[in-house]
Amino acid sequence: MPPRLRAIFHDVDELGIVGGMVVTPRGVRPADVLVRDGRIARVGKIRAVGKSVSAQGLYVLPGVVDAHVHLALPVAGTRSADDFATGTLAAAAGGVTTVIDFTVGAPDLSLATAIEQRLSQAKAAAVDFALRAEMVGWTPDRAGELGDAAALGVRAFKFYLAYGASGRRTPLGTLLSAMEAIRKLGGVAMVHAEAEELVDAAGGPFPAARPAVSEEVAIAEVGILALRTGCPTYIAHISSAQGLAALLAARRAGAPLMGETCPHYLLLDQSVYARADAHQFSVTPPLRAPGDREALWRALARRGLQAVATDHCPFTRAQKDATAGDPARLPSGLPGVETLLPLLYSEGVAKRRIALRQLAWYLAEGPARAFGLWPRKGTIRPGADADLVLFDPHAHWTVHTSDLHMATDFSPYEGMAIQGRPVAALSRGEWLVRDGELLGRPGRGTFVPWQSGPS
Ligand SMILES: [Zn+2]
Repeated sequence: MPPRLRAIFHDVDELGIVGGMVVTPRGVRPADVLVRDGRIARVGKIRAVGKSVSAQGLYVLPGVVDAHVHLALPVAGTRSADDFATGTLAAAAGGVTTVIDFTVGAPDLSLATAIEQRLSQAKAAAVDFALRAEMVGWTPDRAGELGDAAALGVRAFKFYLAYGASGRRTPLGTLLSAMEAIRKLGGVAMVHAEAEELVDAAGGPFPAARPAVSEEVAIAEVGILALRTGCPTYIAHISSAQGLAALLAARRAGAPLMGETCPHYLLLDQSVYARADAHQFSVTPPLRAPGDREALWRALARRGLQAVATDHCPFTRAQKDATAGDPARLPSGLPGVETLLPLLYSEGVAKRRIALRQLAWYLAEGPARAFGLWPRKGTIRPGADADLVLFDPHAHWTVHTSDLHMATDFSPYEGMAIQGRPVAALSRGEWLVRDGELLGRPGRGTFVPWQSGPS
């Protein structure tokens, strides 16, 4: 098209976000962001554009990538309360512009079929999403299926070292051969690290039955496998100082390990299990002691982990009440996707436990790099998707479950005073939230296939 016409066309498709403080893992600086055709076109001083919004007094953050969510997950005879529509609308409200979920694996289901089934369910998503293949009943002779998954854009694979009773556990020998194959594929293994022999499954999701030593032993074992295979390996939901120490030791020995922790391990502790509604806090691994919490914060301050993700797996009070007296059948999981960013800002940055730029690492670049979404997601630089959050660091509010969008009537953070909240969010240049109003709609989210190797 002629240059003049193109200029007019682009005026229509351009949006300038001006006067804010842009936050990346490398630092915080005043800069405008020019969005064009759904992507970031420029970061720096921009000239007049067709449309612009003022970000004066606000932080401009990369859209949050929640690397660990379970939407519509069949578990313990029930289903996690958020589906892809409600869970991703709640994500949008909290500044999360990409979620990474899982397939629902089964021994007799090929990885490709499991991926296609989950992609079909995920069509309802309001934000972009990626998938990992859940490896259930995996056997080494199925290695050819890994390439089928990669062809569908999935190069991350999730293994459990616990949950033998429900058939989800992968023996170490099988994991070793899978990790060799995943390294050759250029993918990543994600591991739920609890050593089965040290867990009392009948005791339910509580510290006495799932002690920190089970996490410590499992991470040490996986660290050795990662070292020997060279397979990039991401340890999910680290809950304890002991588990963390095992991760750091394995990494010092040269193992390509990445670690994740979750807001509930940073903000809560096992004292909640003395409450009458203790069962509402059921989560695996369980909440630990205050010293574990502090060790995790210290690791975050030194950039010792790859991501803070939610393991978002909400249930309603009624869903947990139904099996309150039977720990072994109690569904395990907490809501979190909507409160991730404000909680980590309020408790981490505002309380000076971590630097502001670390927020952009743990919530965006770290997880995007780990799971092959980078540099399309998780960064504010030309060419990336225009997934951005405008964040007001001076807003003060109180968590009330009834104000949140997650499909549950329970929040472990009910009544907590928070500093900072997202006031606007863009996904590929479209407003998901503007002036606090939720504008995203189910079905607009798209699948983000694996872009590159972990880096
Ligand atoms: Zn999980």
